[in-house]
Amino acid sequence: MNKSTLFKKFIEYFTENMPVAESELHYKNPYQLLVAVILSAQCTDKRVNIITPPFFKVFPDLKSLSKAEVVDIFELIKSCSYPNNKAKNLSGMAKTIVKDFGGIVPDDYDKLITVPGVGRKTAHVVLSVAFDQNKLAVDTHVHRVSARIGLTSNAKTPLETERQLMKYFPEAIVGKAHHWLILHGRYVCKARKPLCEKCGITTICSYFATSNNIK
Ligand code: SF4
Repeated sequence: MNKSTLFKKFIEYFTENMPVAESELHYKNPYQLLVAVILSAQCTDKRVNIITPPFFKVFPDLKSLSKAEVVDIFELIKSCSYPNNKAKNLSGMAKTIVKDFGGIVPDDYDKLITVPGVGRKTAHVVLSVAFDQNKLAVDTHVHRVSARIGLTSNAKTPLETERQLMKYFPEAIVGKAHHWLILHGRYVCKARKPLCEKCGITTICSYFATSNNIK
């Protein structure tokens, strides 16, 4: 199957079977989303959604967070992974956005990646989810699932995966495709053992064909 047909069938399947595909992080505005995404690195969305409601009661906006002591931020996030680093990043993030961007989360990639704790993946999640921009965030699920299905070929890095996927996903579908791949990776095409018996795309999956000797 050539790549165009593969992408077409992938899009058709998920459009029909997962018409609603959204972030599982709870947030009400770009500030809350940015905090949640920073906290979610190496941590489950479920855990982040437990941490953020009390966090936003204490720090309802960037201004209040920018004035906080790192130790007070740490206290509120200590049940997630890497709380020391994340507390420092959240403090630096708030201070930088207040100082450099007037206290408003920028909707511009080059500005966002100057903010502590924000790399390409985090910036793309924020730009795509909060600002509806045509950006694809590649996390471990997107990278792994794309390779297994065969949407990507020999992509060694998340950036390579992003470039290959962006060649074929139509602009209007990029934001949704990101969530399709994440949710499929989280619940079906799991890292250690993919649940192929529960998967609806076995007929287009290259990993399934190879492991079942299907030509
Ligand atoms: S068939 Fe298996 S390996 Fe392929 S996408 Fe589905 S779960 Fe993943």
